[in-house]
Amino acid sequence: MTATQTFVIVGAGLAAGKAVQELRESGFDGHLVLYGAESHLPYERPPLSKGYLTGDDSFESALVQPPDWYDAHAVDLRLGTRVAAVDPVARAVTAAGATQRYDKLLLATGSRPRHLAMADDSGAPVAYLRTVEDSDLIRSRLRAEHRLVIIGGGWIGLEVAAAARRAGAHVTLLEALDLPLVRVLGPEVARTFAALHQAHGVDLRMKTVVSSIEADGGVAIVTLADGSSVEADLLVVGIGVTPDITLAEAAGLRTDNGILVDHQLRSSEPDIFAAGDIANAYHPLLGRHVRVEHWDNAIGQGVVAAQNMLGKDVSYDRLPYFFSDQYDLGMEYLGNVGPDGYDRVVLRGTPDKGTFTAFWLREGRVLAGMHANDWDAMDAIRHIVGGQRPVAGLEDESVSLAQIAANLD
Ligand code: NAP
Repeated sequence: MTATQTFVIVGAGLAAGKAVQELRESGFDGHLVLYGAESHLPYERPPLSKGYLTGDDSFESALVQPPDWYDAHAVDLRLGTRVAAVDPVARAVTAAGATQRYDKLLLATGSRPRHLAMADDSGAPVAYLRTVEDSDLIRSRLRAEHRLVIIGGGWIGLEVAAAARRAGAHVTLLEALDLPLVRVLGPEVARTFAALHQAHGVDLRMKTVVSSIEADGGVAIVTLADGSSVEADLLVVGIGVTPDITLAEAAGLRTDNGILVDHQLRSSEPDIFAAGDIANAYHPLLGRHVRVEHWDNAIGQGVVAAQNMLGKDVSYDRLPYFFSDQYDLGMEYLGNVGPDGYDRVVLRGTPDKGTFTAFWLREGRVLAGMHANDWDAMDAIRHIVGGQRPVAGLEDESVSLAQIAANLD
């Protein structure tokens, strides 16, 4: 049935790699075209700020599929090729001056780092972290006694700080708010990450505004609003990302903080789907649209988009999940607090010692949960958070999480 059809995927990141795999494994036997602006096969990005950055993991281990998989599965790879336009009426994309027709199209163009013009214009050594080349550049500067200034206390900032400290570099981290990660985790949990980095020798400067950046030879001189300044051999900027929806906007798709898609990841054009960082998808369990910039979302949405491209009727209803590794702390988080926020946090365990679980609630309902260095807790967290419902007794540490989860059945 599908042998005469052409499916085109734009963007060769993790969501695209998983979609291609799912299409072939589900029996799609038509023409399958994969465009990627980067020259690499689809790869996973989490190692770029963790094991690949520290030199522990190889690039090959980050590939979604081994190189020979694509030939073996007849994927028409067009890497190093940026798609210039999508025409939903003609059902075609244009790339490198040529037109490619499609029956179904998946947009998985990911996101771009937000740039800090003050840094870019300074002539100082500045790095962002999105691609393997970015990670290579930062890795080449992670040396003992080198001075790194990181702007932004988000995931990139903290994971790069951990890798840099391990290499013996001096790290100063500048964040505009009171604590790193405070918007995602709230102060109760964010302060444990601040303490972790301080304990590992990071010079953490919160509530800090950068007023100017200048270059002096190969050194960046960062002046802060209080008049003090910090010197850096490399400035790493990790101030968030912007979903790359240029093609979708030009094609007239409905957009709002990403490409608006339904629970099946279908855009306002029925033959065009979106997955990964760019998809602002209606989430049936959360009852609202949500756009998630994390690894697990790219995997899950790539698969579900592929299934729906094949005419199945699959909802994307996985709760947002992410993980991080910093020094000897590993954490996993499940759920989404959402725009209305939370009114209570329950902490269990020993946050001061870095082993704990946390739950975020509103009006008694558990919206999200995480653990730090308590890997066995994740099954129970999935159970407790999965229903987005009221759960009694979380504060009572004499009852195990496993028991609380079991009581929900
Ligand atoms: P992020 O996690 O969104 O954090 C950006 C941080 O920079 C926020 O704390 C933000 O504060 C701050 N910031 C924004 N503008 C700033 C400015 N002008 N000066 C100083 N600080 C500023 O983004 P990221 O760390 O750049 O990471 C990029 C993407 O990769 C994100 O989508 C992230 O989720 C993903 N990532 C995920 C992981 C993981 O899951 N473990 C690891 C690495 C990267 P405000 O909140 O006030 O804006």
